[in-house]
Amino acid sequence: MSSPSSSRVSARVAAIEESATLAVDARAKALKAAGEDVIGFGAGEPDFPTPAHIVAAAAEACSHPRNHRYTPAAGLPELREAVAAKTLRDSGWDVAAKHVLVTNGAKHAVYNTFATLLDPGDEVLVPAPYWVTYPEAIRLGGGVPVPVPTDETTGFRATLEALDAARAPRTKVLLFVSPSNPTGAVYPPEQVEAIARWAVDHGLWVVTDEIYEHLVYGDNRFSSMPGLVPELGERCVVVNGVAKSYAMTGWRVGWMVGPPDVIAAAANLQSHATSNVANVSQRAALAALTGDQACVGTMREAFDRRRRTMHELLSVIPGVTCREPEGAFYAYPSLRGVLERGVGNRHPASTLELAEVILDEAKVAVVPGEAFGTPGYARLSYALGDDALEEGVRRISQLLAG
Ligand code: PMP
Repeated sequence: MSSPSSSRVSARVAAIEESATLAVDARAKALKAAGEDVIGFGAGEPDFPTPAHIVAAAAEACSHPRNHRYTPAAGLPELREAVAAKTLRDSGWDVAAKHVLVTNGAKHAVYNTFATLLDPGDEVLVPAPYWVTYPEAIRLGGGVPVPVPTDETTGFRATLEALDAARAPRTKVLLFVSPSNPTGAVYPPEQVEAIARWAVDHGLWVVTDEIYEHLVYGDNRFSSMPGLVPELGERCVVVNGVAKSYAMTGWRVGWMVGPPDVIAAAANLQSHATSNVANVSQRAALAALTGDQACVGTMREAFDRRRRTMHELLSVIPGVTCREPEGAFYAYPSLRGVLERGVGNRHPASTLELAEVILDEAKVAVVPGEAFGTPGYARLSYALGDDALEEGVRRISQLLAG
């Protein structure tokens, strides 16, 4: 036993949970390294290359010495302006450059936001299933994540009743995400508005993650809380970025949009942590936001096609029930029927174990629901090529039917 003072790693960082996806991911990589033909539904990123006009703007930016230097920690003024204009265009929230902090991806915006808003013991309502970074970023900010359970019966959407039941004297923030990772749920505008009004009525902050705003399908529509309820603007932070809409996960550009006092405080934090985001990446993001938006629609069409294929193929597998995803690029089927029945002579006790069986036997990687706080499900990304997608689901189907 080592005394706390002799710990090599701080209690704060030691408390970060190992991702439940790591076991499956490590095994998938090991199988691939051994020459196995593994199909991966794990990655949460578009398979497309970044559109050519964005890459060209970045290549051009490389040759300008002004981009070789430090720039303001809060972001290039032109990009902050462009994000403000884009927020008005897409979210209907009328903001200026001083409301914007450019960050190293939306993930960094999530971290900065909770570090800036939370004091020790402040509670944050997090609808479950949730993207696994939220609770960790909340804890690192000193806060306490409070899951708000949802399931298929409400389309994985948190109801006002469930939110009210989770609200307590220390509740400071509601985390909201629509379209959602991992469920693909999209909240209709009247529900977005009702939840925003509920937050205003109770003096709560809302951190709303709009990273999948352009990836909505069929009759579903994206709607933004501060756009629908401007009074919320005093206590709202929008998290967003270029990663998913423009196939730019590797460029690492995101942002937070919020009240100027919060943005100034978060910029102070960032100035001591990471300084400015790489200028070439910021120039690429500027080209993405201000250039032709046709590429966004082209990629959305491909995701929509794959979404329908995946939903059709998953829905006919015995023991699997799957809602049609409304947005983002994930399906989140329930595999409880498979757990009850077993797979051949194997009886995995959890989706964590079932994911291992699927990987070992079908050579397909899926992310078990445990990673998102909801055992019994699995997340499959459909951001991969049509042929690989069909082949991957066919393999799962053969394994589970056999
Ligand atoms: N929010 C959500 C809901 C996400 O799924 C992701 C990426 N998995 C992010 C934020 C982070 O995106 P970025 O690559 O810009 O950090």
